[in-house]
Amino acid sequence: MEIDKTKPYPVIVALECKSCSRCVVACPKQCLRIGKTINERGYFAAEYVGEGCVGCASCFYNCPEPNAIQIHIPQRG
Ligand code: SF4
Ligand code: SF4
Repeated sequence: MEIDKTKPYPVIVALECKSCSRCVVACPKQCLRIGKTINERGYFAAEYVGEGCVGCASCFYNCPEPNAIQIHIPQRG
């Protein structure tokens, strides 16, 4: 699914993800899931379902891996 980049969206760096599911549980919009593709370190990385993100950053603050999640929020104006 093409992500609408005029809205907030998370980017998960699959290589850094340890598949702990904290972000999935923390997302109030249920728009993250554990994916089906195994990464180079042997974990099934979390992924964005493609829509629904409101940019709250709850996933970012609940992820124990420093570089696994970024939240992109479009500038206004
Ligand atoms: S920023 Fe908020 S709404 Fe968006 S994926 Fe993360 S927890 Fe979910
Ligand atoms: S909280 Fe971080 S390490 Fe855990 S599944 Fe989500 S992105 Fe991966």
